Amino acid sequence: MKPFNLDFDLLTGLSRSKESTKRPLSKMKGIYSDAEAFQNVLQSDDPLVYEFYELDLPETSGNLLFGTSIVYPGKIGNEYYMTKGHFHTILETGEVYYCLSGKGGMLMENPEGDWDFQEFSPGKAVYVPPRYAHRSINVGSEPLVTFFTFRADAGHDYGTIETKGYRKLVVDLEGQYEIIDNPRWNQ
Ligand code: ZN
Repeated sequence: MKPFNLDFDLLTGLSRSKESTKRPLSKMKGIYSDAEAFQNVLQSDDPLVYEFYELDLPETSGNLLFGTSIVYPGKIGNEYYMTKGHFHTILETGEVYYCLSGKGGMLMENPEGDWDFQEFSPGKAVYVPPRYAHRSINVGSEPLVTFFTFRADAGHDYGTIETKGYRKLVVDLEGQYEIIDNPRWNQ
């Protein structure tokens, strides 16, 4: 492989050479806590919740995958627009996120039950340690754009989150975000 330039517009997160992977609301069944609000929105609309660009590098341990993620502003019930969230198939994988624009945070939890929420604001990096599932959440009114990179052979495990959810939810309470226990979370 030869060296190459990063081809992202770092203000919008858009790639100039690649199509994004899109996650409209209809692809997020079971992810939001308020199933009724989810269905109500879907009856009339299928809004784009987030999209991401990832470069197709060989998935070997020496390469770094990287890309940008764009989470749009919005809410389902009182829960903010967010990514599905994932563990890595190789659980002992760390990942760096760097916030380019917008306002939000990264919700993280590991199988041992520890969790954390780190805020994103432009110019701030968040380190996701090995073993932590991670989900970006937009608590602002503009798109939340982040750049991420991690070892290329790590893989993604979405299934665990789809089945179990997160221990915590980030919800809007009178214009401020609040972190609450997920009433539907089960061991
Ligand atoms: Zn990841």
